[in-house]
Amino acid sequence: MNRFYIVIFALLATACQETDSEQNKSDQKMEKPQYAQDSHSFSKPNEVAATHLSLDVEVDFDNSVISGTATHRLERNGGNSVFFDIRGLTIHGVTDQDGDTLNFSITRGNKRGDGLGIALNESTAEVNINYVTSSDAAALLWLNPEQTLGKTGPFLFTQGQAILTRSWVPIQDTPALRITYDANVKVPSNLMAVMSATNPTSKNQSGIYSFRMDQPIPPYLMALAVGDLKFEEVGKRTGVYAEPAMLEKAVYEFADVEKMLIAAEDLYGPYKWDRYDILVLPPSFPFGGMENPRLTFATPTIIAGDRSLTSLIAHELAHSWSGNLVTNATWDDFWLNEGFTVYFEKRIMEALYGKDYAEMLNQLGLQDLKHTIDDLGETSPDTHLKLDLEGRDPDAGMTDIAYEKGFLFLRMLEEKVGRERFDKFLRNYFSENAFKTMTTERFIAYLGENLLSELDEKPDVHEWIFQPGIPDNFPKPNSSLFAKVDEAREAWLSGEKAASKLETKDWSTHEWLYFIRGLEGGLSISKMSELDAAFGFTETGNSEIAAAWYEHAIQSNYRKAFPAMEEFLVSVGRRKFLEPLYQKLSETDEHLKWAKEVYEKARPNYHSVSTQTIDEILKWS
Ligand SMILES: [Zn+2]
Repeated sequence: MNRFYIVIFALLATACQETDSEQNKSDQKMEKPQYAQDSHSFSKPNEVAATHLSLDVEVDFDNSVISGTATHRLERNGGNSVFFDIRGLTIHGVTDQDGDTLNFSITRGNKRGDGLGIALNESTAEVNINYVTSSDAAALLWLNPEQTLGKTGPFLFTQGQAILTRSWVPIQDTPALRITYDANVKVPSNLMAVMSATNPTSKNQSGIYSFRMDQPIPPYLMALAVGDLKFEEVGKRTGVYAEPAMLEKAVYEFADVEKMLIAAEDLYGPYKWDRYDILVLPPSFPFGGMENPRLTFATPTIIAGDRSLTSLIAHELAHSWSGNLVTNATWDDFWLNEGFTVYFEKRIMEALYGKDYAEMLNQLGLQDLKHTIDDLGETSPDTHLKLDLEGRDPDAGMTDIAYEKGFLFLRMLEEKVGRERFDKFLRNYFSENAFKTMTTERFIAYLGENLLSELDEKPDVHEWIFQPGIPDNFPKPNSSLFAKVDEAREAWLSGEKAASKLETKDWSTHEWLYFIRGLEGGLSISKMSELDAAFGFTETGNSEIAAAWYEHAIQSNYRKAFPAMEEFLVSVGRRKFLEPLYQKLSETDEHLKWAKEVYEKARPNYHSVSTQTIDEILKWS
């Protein structure tokens, strides 16, 4: 037997025990939401769930802390204590809805967080937790004015996924639970605050901003940013927040967002979050984008000037269905968020820009996946779709496996049943499970009942989800555009054609990336110089091309690119770019020494999500 059945039996056993002991309440009890067990949280929502949060906080840039009160409305399912997750928070006191003091205690956990237990009276319906964050809270990055584009004021942003929200709000920090929230946030009066909620469109004099999020979300989607921000509309339901100096560029880059939204709705049903806005952050943001509901947080590194990197926005938008509407119940089920989103993202891109375009994305994605499997090891359990992250940081599961293997699995299903049936299946999946959480096991059952039951020859779902590597029946992308790039690269490498004579004028970022990635092994300095002279890779303003090129520069020890690479590493905090570059740099003593000097300067610009990874690579302490 495999793990999956053991888990199912364990869950059934627990459910039945409860029914036996409380026979008279059993029917009622079985209908109540059963929250999935989450090894990464101290909360016990099956006993007491905190389902609405009212946040009243002040953002203090002088001391780099957030302080105030978190009021949680409780759904009492029988327990006499409520448990929250905290990390580095100082708890000043806890009261109930009448202002009466409640006793609390802290259970020490590990570096990823502690438990806050509060004893409840029979009548306790709300708890008010008065607290202050630490100045190095893992979710928060505090930037001084010099670290922003406009240099006019400081900047703060949060990153909650996976389990960092607990470092700025005491909360039941498990994706198994959904909450609604409202917030009052006080900031310096020259700055604007925005959240994953209803948002202001201009600054106000008081510096106090109010927010509401009435659709229930998992706690990792709580998000806040504060800075010198301006808003501009892009479409009827879409707009952009950015520093004033970035706004015009961003509005140009994201011109197709409203079209993307319509394409997404045509595919998988109505958008349920009212508005879809994008916040462009300073370059320190550790991810490409974060799908905070109503307000995607995005890195400025996707602003290439030619709208060529906007598939990332299609990705974050797709999360409005997969992830935000139907949410992974635990971080072991992360592929349910990301695999579906990559599939959906590529369908949006295909709808807007055609099959050839989408096929390039598919092929690049497969390259990434193969690379990741090489790194993790072909038989590693970390290459299963369903993970086992107990006792580890859930961040360890955020690899291309969840994204690209998850995508391939869905693409395989699509090919098996045909696009029409598969689309209908997905539409129903999103609408029937909207605002709910999903485990891998429940998804498999749903898939069996709603899509696979009529098939004579069923795909081996178990192999895809619970076994390592890529099954043989994976769909193979085939891009005719990339075939031309292969020809061009071959002609250049063999000396048949000079770089400057290659026909590249119609190439998009994807073709360039594919071209650069295909230059395997260390090229000679003269070959590197020839490419650089012809195409200006070292000084490119396109972050994807720059990052791919710098990997070759390290491999070939092409020193001419090092000053530009240094500038890139010091300003850009996106982990996807940093990790392979520092990894490559750590391979020789000479490069490692250089990397450490650069990292010393760069580290204050990086969010903890990135420093955690790079510290490990460079053995930094
Ligand atoms: Zn995603």
